Amino acid sequence: MKYAVPAAPTHSLRINGTGEHFPVNRIFCVGRNYAAHVREMGGDERDPPFFFMKPACAAVDASSTAHIAYPPMTSNFHHEIELVVAIGKAGTNLDVETALDVVFGYAVGLDMTRRDLQLAARDKGRPWEFGKAFTGSAPVGAISTVAQVGHLAAGAITLSVNGAIRQSSDLKLMIWSVAEALAYLSRYEALQPGDLIMTGTPEGVGPVVAGDVMDGQIAGLDDIRVSVGG
Ligand code: MN
Repeated sequence: MKYAVPAAPTHSLRINGTGEHFPVNRIFCVGRNYAAHVREMGGDERDPPFFFMKPACAAVDASSTAHIAYPPMTSNFHHEIELVVAIGKAGTNLDVETALDVVFGYAVGLDMTRRDLQLAARDKGRPWEFGKAFTGSAPVGAISTVAQVGHLAAGAITLSVNGAIRQSSDLKLMIWSVAEALAYLSRYEALQPGDLIMTGTPEGVGPVVAGDVMDGQIAGLDDIRVSVGG
């Protein structure tokens, strides 16, 4: 096929223990999946979580120290540490009991957010894209396969900025488990290999500025280190 303009590049992530890479398709993100984060955002924790999306070009390989630019048009750039699920098989209308069969592996990721733009959009009932879906807004570490680490339902999730802990929680506090999130999502959209699911952040979100270094950890997965440029 001959394209009239250059085709967009494929964004990919490293996979632990192999030279192969994971080609990123779509990025689905769960909003408000930890009750304490729902409260800090001024929400009602009785409201169920929901999904929004980022484009593939949001993905940044953070398998070794990654550098991201401080994005334009914000003065409140926030970190959100999240468990990332990498999808390896197609799936539609999945049952909670079998939904994990489509999972290829897991990684540590950051749902970086222009909080000022997100909240302004939220308050006017407008879409979140400018706050959430900008290029480079999803640094993700190396993917560990299910064969390597199994499925993650509990374990510490932490984020430090310049060595000081900002976010510290446990995966077991997710309102929707990974299986529940996949089952719900697969009723609306056929899951495809290459899709990523960002499963929501615990409490403690806050701003970073140029020069800050973020360290993200989830028990059992490779750590990530992401520095914020000017
Ligand atoms: Mn998030």
